[in-house]
Amino acid sequence: MTTNGTDLDTARQRLEAERERLIRLRDGVSSETTDENGDTMEQQELSTMDQHPADVASEVFEREKDESILQGFDIELAEIEEALARIEDGSYGQCERCHKPIGEARLEAMPHARYCVDDQGRIERSSV
Ligand SMILES: [Zn+2]
Repeated sequence: MTTNGTDLDTARQRLEAERERLIRLRDGVSSETTDENGDTMEQQELSTMDQHPADVASEVFEREKDESILQGFDIELAEIEEALARIEDGSYGQCERCHKPIGEARLEAMPHARYCVDDQGRIERSSV
């Protein structure tokens, strides 16, 4: 059975593949940068004293970037979980605001999309 021409099995597979990929990426980022107890980080900071300031700056930048990347993964993973839940309850593929079909092309590009293009644009403009 299909809803609005959206193949839910395909959508689910897409979402699950995307989830896998994000988890793998996230684990890759965090295993490179996180230090469970914080010790490594402090030692690193001391040892960077002899380095060029530019190197230190870029290292700090890299670390901050990693953190925001990790946050981005978590947000996206949560979106994917919600999209999977919407597949279960039958509301997947519908805009949450106007309840019109989101559209197959958009769902293909962004399987966890929750709004149609129009509403997405409106939300992005109003939340800035
Ligand atoms: Zn809409």
